[in-house]
Amino acid sequence: MIKVNDQFLKLPESYLFSEVARKIREYKEQNPEKEVIRMDIGDVTLPLPAATIEAMHKAVDDQGEGGDFHGYGPEQGYQFLRDAIAANDYAARGCGIQADEIFVSDGAKSDLGNLGDILSNDCRIAVADPGYPVYVDATVISGRGGELKNGRWTGIEYLKCDRSTDFKPQLPEHEADVIILCSPSNPTGTAMNREELRQWVDYANRHGALIIYDSAYESYISSPDIPRSIYEIEGAEKCAIEVRSFSKTAGFTGIRCGYTVVPKTLKGVTSDGEEVELRKLWNRRQTTKFNGAGYISQRGAEAVYSEEGKRQVRANVEYYMENARLIRKTLEEMGFKVWGGENSPYVWASFGEKADSWELFDRLLREAQISCTPGSGFGANGAGFIRLTGFNTHEKTREAMRRLRQCL
Ligand SMILES: *Cc1c(COP(=O)(O)O)cnc(C)c1O
Repeated sequence: MIKVNDQFLKLPESYLFSEVARKIREYKEQNPEKEVIRMDIGDVTLPLPAATIEAMHKAVDDQGEGGDFHGYGPEQGYQFLRDAIAANDYAARGCGIQADEIFVSDGAKSDLGNLGDILSNDCRIAVADPGYPVYVDATVISGRGGELKNGRWTGIEYLKCDRSTDFKPQLPEHEADVIILCSPSNPTGTAMNREELRQWVDYANRHGALIIYDSAYESYISSPDIPRSIYEIEGAEKCAIEVRSFSKTAGFTGIRCGYTVVPKTLKGVTSDGEEVELRKLWNRRQTTKFNGAGYISQRGAEAVYSEEGKRQVRANVEYYMENARLIRKTLEEMGFKVWGGENSPYVWASFGEKADSWELFDRLLREAQISCTPGSGFGANGAGFIRLTGFNTHEKTREAMRRLRQCL
């Protein structure tokens, strides 16, 4: 009998992005003379940094006639990339992460979805609401979600994260074994400072909990009091796994490369109460189910750490951040409360206490021909909010802000 994993059937259909696309398409059909400006883009749009393109061209030649051919690589990633990450993302910031604690992958989403493989089935997972939907959906697929009641999963611990907490997640009310944190956050754009992150690390070490720290937007951080890595906090190497990506940093959403750090000092316990290194389990998981990220992608990622690569990456990030700051400033000047847009390409906003996210979406589309992402798609606490992004061009962002000022 072909018995399926019932958990998949419990997951509600995700209508968010298809519904946004459908509404925009219909509006354009009915109003062909109007130009809709996309402020809902959740993807980078600028060309890749020239240094990465050059490195990948060379890597393609390596694979051809007379080149330095590479077949299967190490499942953990090539040494050249692991060394570059350890030196630039960790040693340079005073973190003692070693190359053999870094596992290169085809992106953060896979790792975030797969980390549950090395954890016991009865681990209770805590997530912030609103949050990146992968955390909840992967938890449900693994059988740890319980049942969906009133928009919330009974098996998941939701961290308080709303207007009253400035969209910063608060310590859990009930015991949790695993806490998934995202800073700077998608969708709210808020980032935790050193003190706030220290609270989490201390909490996890006190309670024997694991933190899975998603820092996909780390390169958008400019405030000095916001850590770029959780390992800048003392004790984090005993309680945290950090997940990173070249997607938003270097425009690798279509190239695919990321990495996960599992320090040797991070230990879990078996059902017999024996201590084990999580790193060993993750290594076993990856060598069994993953055959390594592509050689060409990894050469491209290595070039992100060259002098030109760093400069070009910074220029692209700065381009998006100029847009994000303009969005934030415009909304603030209009008297609205906004979050993000300072250390994140995302701006999170509400236009009054009562409005529903989809009503706001429809209104912006009809009255200003601007598309956004309804916050309700990121969790119950997102209701009433929208997410705007800095990923469009300067010209279109400026035009969108001009329209906002006119219509709201
Ligand atoms: C985009 C994004 C990722 C990155 O995913 P990749 O698979 O590396 O492209 C991870 N986490 C969050 C919160 C994101 O927004």
